Amino acid sequence: MVEFIPKQVIQKVAEQDLWRYRSYTGDFNLEFPLNVGDVFQCIFGLQTDFIDLTQEESLKGVSTQNTWGGLYPEKCFFQGKDKVILINTGYTGMTEEFCRFAIAHAGGHYALHYRAGGAFNAGWDDILRVSSEPTTPLLCGPLFCNPLEIHHPLEIQASYYAAAILVPRGEIFRLTGGPNLLDLYHHENELCHKFGVSRQILELRLQHLEAELEADRRSNQRFYSLSEFAKNLESIEKLAP
Ligand SMILES: [Zn+2]
Repeated sequence: MVEFIPKQVIQKVAEQDLWRYRSYTGDFNLEFPLNVGDVFQCIFGLQTDFIDLTQEESLKGVSTQNTWGGLYPEKCFFQGKDKVILINTGYTGMTEEFCRFAIAHAGGHYALHYRAGGAFNAGWDDILRVSSEPTTPLLCGPLFCNPLEIHHPLEIQASYYAAAILVPRGEIFRLTGGPNLLDLYHHENELCHKFGVSRQILELRLQHLEAELEADRRSNQRFYSLSEFAKNLESIEKLAP
């Protein structure tokens, strides 16, 4: 069964992970583009290795031509090492931006699908108020990612985490100086350069944040209407004979 993880939980887990990175390094002003390899090394102890997987004899059963990266978690060893993110230098679509995204995506799998308890549960706890008992991880064993599976729910979740960590919500809100993200679409090139992401990832991220803000606006509107309704009702009652 595939576990559904709400977007706001993934957002929160990514923010907690960035916060942990900030507190470990003591550097509260993050530099962009974010060095995600360093983030995951620091908070998870995951090392990032760049290897041409198409030349790997040991991966004969894996379609390495189509694989852009992989993850070997605890006690799963690749060339004698566990806890490693693999980036396939033999993948034809590998650009600097995509490589950064691939590392963040693999880290997303680790954060969301391989960890039990800890920050993951704290993320659920706050928002959904579910039990904070440690749960078993969703995945175990090595994982390889390829573009043919991007619509799989776990792949979507890892990509959402990647976008949230590479383009943090706080940074975007700081840049806009307000809740209107539309102006940012005029500065896409600068933003892609600042965060080191492709146009596609940036636009997706802005759309997600826009949807989140819209949901906020709607719920505020509802509260506003209800209080207005209550006020009106009060005045109507006062007028009543
Ligand atoms: Zn993946």
